[in-house]
Amino acid sequence: MSSVGPVIFERHLFGPGPSNPYPEATDALSRPLLGHLDPEFLRIMDETCELLRQAWGTTNARTLPISATGSAGMEAAFVNTVHEGDVVVVGVNGLFGQRMCDVAARCGAEVVAVEHEWGTPVDVQRMLDAHPHPTMYAAVHAETSTGVRSDIAALGAAKGDALLVTDAVTSLAGIELRADDWGIDVGYAGTQKCLGVAPGLAPFTINDRAFARRVEKPRSWYLDLGLLGGYVGEASSRGATGGGRTYHHTAPVAMVVSLHAGLTRIVEEGLENVWARHEAVGKQLQDGLQSMGLELFAQEGSRLPELTTVKVPDGVDSAAVRGRLLERHGIEIGAGVGQYAATVWRIGLMGHNARPDAALLVLAALEEAIKA
Ligand SMILES: *Cc1c(COP(=O)(O)O)cnc(C)c1O
Repeated sequence: MSSVGPVIFERHLFGPGPSNPYPEATDALSRPLLGHLDPEFLRIMDETCELLRQAWGTTNARTLPISATGSAGMEAAFVNTVHEGDVVVVGVNGLFGQRMCDVAARCGAEVVAVEHEWGTPVDVQRMLDAHPHPTMYAAVHAETSTGVRSDIAALGAAKGDALLVTDAVTSLAGIELRADDWGIDVGYAGTQKCLGVAPGLAPFTINDRAFARRVEKPRSWYLDLGLLGGYVGEASSRGATGGGRTYHHTAPVAMVVSLHAGLTRIVEEGLENVWARHEAVGKQLQDGLQSMGLELFAQEGSRLPELTTVKVPDGVDSAAVRGRLLERHGIEIGAGVGQYAATVWRIGLMGHNARPDAALLVLAALEEAIKA
């Protein structure tokens, strides 16, 4: 018997991502494939960029899906904007803030890491005090490793002349996010979290101010926004390429069509309704966990609704519970990260999974698995 037979059952993906895609996004994957320069595909790509502008809350012409997962969005953000020796102040309150430091340093930045206790949000005053005149501030909006939301609007209002890079991988299309109003100069996200699409693309946006300061010839050819612009970002209708498209790389056609379907689904529900749905379901889950006697990890007031961190009760084997959830209930939840690997669980109710029935399902299953 083959060990790689077909998947015959569904999982409830209630971990830190990927989440179960919206059915519309899954259906779109089965459509006949288009060529990547087919006019019909280019139309879908243009619409996808426009839908992404709505999701980001931006009018940035350069808003596009980068052809790789969220981490490629992070690489694109720094490799295109960091000049050798630039001072980049990074808010670190979890794994993804740490990763930003690593990526920015590889791009030649002099990184000033502002370390925070995990479970707490980025402190804007500490960011400002970290350096008198940084080139750039960078922070994670929704820190998936700890379940914490940071106040990007406050950082954007205080950034002065510096650029602001924001990781919105777990916030885009999940919680309130307004790139232009908040002063986000460069933002990146991923498809497999609140957007409710399979992993594979990194929605990205950069404003004119940041683009004007970009690195002319970045060390990455694939992620060079100057080259990508001729292909997707500055759509032909905007005249940037005189109405034509130039080949750069083969767009992941099926993934873009799926993202288009997922975004259409979100816009039809209404972005603010989608945010409200995540807020309500997250609260339902967090209230339910607390009434089971469990303790939440993230600091009160900064808890993400879409990604809940909860402490593993004393005497309970974290891995055994996760194993039982998967085997008996078909439910995946996440372990903690780093020093919290065995003492915290991460439960994500994102995108299609941000539903009251999903919250009830995971609460009941967790109660059963802990008792067992
Ligand atoms: C998941 C995640 C990433 C990385 O995205 P990948 O799709 O795994 O490459 C970056 N930042 C945050 C906050 C994330 O949650």
